[in-house]
Amino acid sequence: MPLFAKKTGRKILDFILPPQCINCSTRVLQQGGLCADCWEKISFISKPFCFFCSFPFNIQIEDESVCGPCARKRPLFTRARTAIYYNEASKPMILRFKHADALHITPLFAEWLYQAGQDLFQQAEYLVPIPLHWSRLVYRGYNQAALLSHKLSKKAKIPHLPDLLERNRRTPSQGDLTAKEREKNVSNAFKLKEKYKQLIRNKHILLIDDVFTSGATVRACTKVLKKSGAKQVDILTLARVIKPEI
Ligand SMILES: [Zn+2]
Ligand SMILES: [Zn+2]
Repeated sequence: MPLFAKKTGRKILDFILPPQCINCSTRVLQQGGLCADCWEKISFISKPFCFFCSFPFNIQIEDESVCGPCARKRPLFTRARTAIYYNEASKPMILRFKHADALHITPLFAEWLYQAGQDLFQQAEYLVPIPLHWSRLVYRGYNQAALLSHKLSKKAKIPHLPDLLERNRRTPSQGDLTAKEREKNVSNAFKLKEKYKQLIRNKHILLIDDVFTSGATVRACTKVLKKSGAKQVDILTLARVIKPEI
């Protein structure tokens, strides 16, 4: 569509449907954004953080420092990056995006992921969303991680393989499980689709998901990819649950 037609279309649309904050519906200046109040409550994860898992540090610390858990046991993935804290402000938005068809939030979330993943895109050869089990996909109608990965793929100009991984069994929701239970819950839950076995050999994969809680899900997927010969696996998630370091 020519630019002038797009601009005119936008003006007409703004007149009929004035732009609203995508979180609280307050009037805002531009479609697809947040109002000042909602912006203020969102906390972005920024440096200094753990080189491997991006756990944020409260004190200024050297680049490439690592957190306690990563120092004790280096993760199988190379780097995990995340855009925002999963907290009281972001949780309702993410839950609506995940379960209540609030898909108009996708472009904003994809932009946040794009900013948070800058140092991962130079090496990544494929973007791969964490899959849902088919029965959950039928019930929900969409996979929120695949929507984000698809949008990101266009922005970062990296191919997107939404069906590379399959969830081969339906795992109970991770919601109320402890870290140990989560690990057990998702172990062996994923497999690589046969037709991609050759394709990913020696490749650099970037896994995309919405929330990083204990990391059990991304670790299980990383294991499958590494076992199948992927050279490097990085992780990019929208939000992360940050508990004080143990
Ligand atoms: Zn708002
Ligand atoms: Zn770490």
